[in-house]
Amino acid sequence: MSTTEPRVISHWIDGADSPSSSGRTAPVYNPATGAVQAHVALADQAEIDAAIESAQRGYQVWKTYSIAKRQTVIFAFRELLNARKRELAEIITAEHGKVVSDAMGEILRGQEVVELATGFPHLIKGAFSENASTGVDVYSLKQPLGVVGIISPFNFPAMVPMWFFPVAIAAGNAVVLKPSEKDPSAALWLAQLWKEAGLPDGVFTVLQGDKLAVDGLLHSPVVQSISFVGSTPIAQYIYETASKNGKRVQALGGAKNHMLVLPDADLDLVADQAVNAGYGAAGERCMAISVVLAVEPVADELIAKVSERIANLRIGNGAGADGVEPDMGPLITDAHRDKVASYVDIAEADGAKIVVDGRGLKIDGHEDGFFFGPTLIDDIPITSRAYTEEIFGPVLSVVRVQTFQEGLDLINSGEFGNGTAIFTNDGGAARRFQSEVEVGMIGINVPIPVPVAYHSFGGWKASLFGDAKAYGVHGFDFFTREKAITSRWLDPATHGGINLGFPQNN
Ligand code: NAD
Repeated sequence: MSTTEPRVISHWIDGADSPSSSGRTAPVYNPATGAVQAHVALADQAEIDAAIESAQRGYQVWKTYSIAKRQTVIFAFRELLNARKRELAEIITAEHGKVVSDAMGEILRGQEVVELATGFPHLIKGAFSENASTGVDVYSLKQPLGVVGIISPFNFPAMVPMWFFPVAIAAGNAVVLKPSEKDPSAALWLAQLWKEAGLPDGVFTVLQGDKLAVDGLLHSPVVQSISFVGSTPIAQYIYETASKNGKRVQALGGAKNHMLVLPDADLDLVADQAVNAGYGAAGERCMAISVVLAVEPVADELIAKVSERIANLRIGNGAGADGVEPDMGPLITDAHRDKVASYVDIAEADGAKIVVDGRGLKIDGHEDGFFFGPTLIDDIPITSRAYTEEIFGPVLSVVRVQTFQEGLDLINSGEFGNGTAIFTNDGGAARRFQSEVEVGMIGINVPIPVPVAYHSFGGWKASLFGDAKAYGVHGFDFFTREKAITSRWLDPATHGGINLGFPQNN
């Protein structure tokens, strides 16, 4: 038995690893084995202050960088990320559990935002109106906010921070990132990469921690904005607290995404996509499909096709073994696995039929891993908490509906409005769906409609608190503030004289 103490994962402050002396830590597991592989530091107030002060110093330097110099750093970051992303994927798999190819997928989607950010000069240039009034020009500048806070969830330890920080940094801000304490290492790897790309110290800071660190950011007068992604109750808390403290805030919350299947859809395509979107990343995606609304008479056939496909899924260590990668890895913690199981218990107690049961799955050689098998539930009552609440695991429920309208009404009656998809060959139905569904991101024969970087990501209702979505034009608007300047360079011939009236344009 080894007596070596697991390492402690530290903060990144002033452009370097910054060991904690708070005396507080949380365990970081390898979800595939259940072993504690490290501990992560949980910041105390002194460390929170140090991180924010360093970011403030970094901002003072960064804001003097010309657009051209900033662009050079962001291009260098993009090149390093592109060349070395496999290292990052392996770090994500070791702490999150998702399969390496899926971790690569999240990095690539984050990299898209870095690529968007390389073109930032175009997105932050202001506007100029010559001679808006006689002899008067009006123009606007987009300036950075200063120090901005990002608080991210466990399920995308690289992509979600990358929804925000490339844009924030390109726009001239300094970032303090508070990653999830469940998989904190990806943030440090990204910090190191920024250093190698030439970002000045303090412009990208990683503050490890729990609620104390989050509250430190929410209450700091130096922090100008908060970008949060996580569960809805915490998103609401973040939104209310940050707003009360005068900050700009975007807080993305949970989800319960429905796939509406019309009778004319290609059921093999639907079954493939339902399995991909329901069980990919073990369902720990905010855009995962959780409910299939089958417009009759397709439910029986669709359930048979999905069940067949589930039987062929390979579940195991996301890192793979002997060069073979499984389809699905474990859940993030044993507590989360038990919570997912409890929702299947609830569905069963409420009268649903458990068609494929993932409870109690054990993987040979990984008996202590946090595995949960793909689960398929039929006839779930829409009053069941297993239908109304977010499960965030590999659990797909089928609700049988009689009409398009019944399906649409069900989606619109839910608490969340993150993503949804319709599967059909009827363009008219799809068009009506996109128009009437109360959801922020919609797929038409596309199951996980995460928008490309030059559009923006965000849901409706309890899936997003605040006005600004992530990345795209919303992102650049969020991370800049505008100044409007009205200027008159006097023509020696026209002085204007005294006039106490409100200025009018002529
Ligand atoms: P979470 O809400 O538990 O944690 C998110 C962050 O908030 C973490 O950094 C955590 O340390 C911090 N936090 C947790 N409890 C806190 C508290 N009481 N006070 C202050 N801060 C606190 O979420 P999670 O379990 O890490 O992530 C899963 C959730 O995130 C799911 O609900 C999922 O739908 C959601 N999510 C949403 C999106 C989206 O785009 N809408 C994207 C990814 C994940």
